Formats: sequence, structure tokens, C-alpha cells
Amino acid sequence: MLKNISVTLDVEDLRPSDNFEDRSKMMTEKVLDLFAEVEVRATIFVVGDVARRHPEVIKKAVQAGHEIGLHSHKHIPLQLLNPDDFERELNEAKRSLEDISGQPVNGYRAPTMSLTHKTRWAIPIMQRTGFTYSSSVLPAKNPLYGWNGLPKQPFKWLDSVIEFPCPVTNILGFNIPYLGGAYFRLFPPIIRKTGIRKSSSKEVLWTYCHPWEFDPKEKYYQLEDVGNLTSRIAWLGRKGMENKMRNFLQEASSQSLGDIASKIDQSQLQIVDPESPN
Ligand SMILES: [Zn+2]
Repeated sequence: MLKNISVTLDVEDLRPSDNFEDRSKMMTEKVLDLFAEVEVRATIFVVGDVARRHPEVIKKAVQAGHEIGLHSHKHIPLQLLNPDDFERELNEAKRSLEDISGQPVNGYRAPTMSLTHKTRWAIPIMQRTGFTYSSSVLPAKNPLYGWNGLPKQPFKWLDSVIEFPCPVTNILGFNIPYLGGAYFRLFPPIIRKTGIRKSSSKEVLWTYCHPWEFDPKEKYYQLEDVGNLTSRIAWLGRKGMENKMRNFLQEASSQSLGDIASKIDQSQLQIVDPESPN
């Protein structure tokens, strides 16, 4: 049986330099058109820097009824920032995105799920800067990021924001974030269907995608901070992505993560102390 799945889009610009064409505006508009076609309301997490360069795209998303969230100031993973810089940038980027969108920005998504036990200093800062929820952790063991032992259902950080952990499922001993990114693009649909079927009704399921995943024409460049293989993988399966997503979105819910956060009974949520041993 299919379940309601919220839709999220992370709008970012991963080019290492301006020597490569900036296709982020064109591709974001393309994905927004797809969402309109299938009548889906999504949460659009936007990198602050991209929003400042292309404010008209944010306005288009707002007009279509989407929720706008923040996907960091410049897409730098949390472990490469220090807490003071993070707090200042988060404040500035939130205000700027609220000015551009004309709506409150309540949700934050860390780049590359980089909220981990090591970067837990970011949790009180999200609360201080006025966010109400985060969608920034992978609740499993993972070679890159991941915070093993966290609940798979939404929970509340002690004295801080609500967290919507990334949906993961166990396949052959690996916990994988099966509903988005390369896993969505490259794995056969049976993986997704099995993961959804095995998920608990307490989980909030969401898919995540990026405008560049829909762009087979983008010229290849080596992504920063990842190996050559991971970078190559980012260019695979782009051609079929639009149709794959179009089909999948027939199952999607039009509840944004912000809608869910505002309606959730917080007294029923498990409270997690980030300082507790990992
Ligand atoms: Zn990202």
C-alpha cells in the first residue's frame, strides 16, 4: 500500500567556479513546472547564495504555493564551519530568504545531511535563530555522515527544534536513504516500494531531489569535497529522472514539512538530548 510522502527539493549550485554555466535557475524552474503539472506542493530548501542571485525563482515557487526553507548560506557542510560563523550566516541567510520570499522560513536542512554527533553544536543555534524544524540527519550508520541510534520518526531535540530524520531502509545490511538523490535516481523502484512498505506509520516519509538531477545536458565537473566516483555518479541517470519523478509524484502528499511541523502534537514527540552518548 502506498503512503503519503512529502516532497522536498534542495536548490543549490555545486559548480566549482563560474567557468561552468550556471543552470540552477533554469533547472529549478523546470522542476517547479513538473510539480505544477502533477499538482504537488513541496518544501523548497534553498541555498541563501542561490536565492540572492535568482530571487525570481523563489518568487515563482511562493506563487505556486510551496513552502520555502533554508539549505544553508553557501552549502558548506557543518563540520567545516565554526559555531560563530554558522550562527551569523544562518541569521543573515534566513532574513534574506524571508525578504525575498515574503514568508517566514521555519525549516532548515543542513548540506549533505551533515548534522551529526560531531556537529551537534548547530542544534541550539537553529533554535536561537528562529527555526522551528530541521531535516538534517541520517539516523543510521553511514560512511560519510549519519547519526546512529536516532529515532526514525520525527522527534524533538532537547530545548530545540523538531527534527524530521531522513527516511532510511535496511537493504542487505546497509541503511540507505532510499527515497531521494542517487538512490532514487539509480536504484530500481522495487527498493523504494519495499522501503515504504517496511516503514512504520510513525515515520514522516519525504523524498529529496535536486534541480541538477534533472539535467542530462550539464557539462561534467568534479564536485568539491567528494571522490571522483561519487562525482561521476552525480551525472548518472539524469535523463530518466523527470519521468521517474513524474510517476513517483502520483503517490506524493501535498503536505509540506512545515505543514506537518505546525500540526504535530509536540507533547507526543520523543525528546533527544544531543549530548547523550552516540
Ligand atoms: Zn544540498
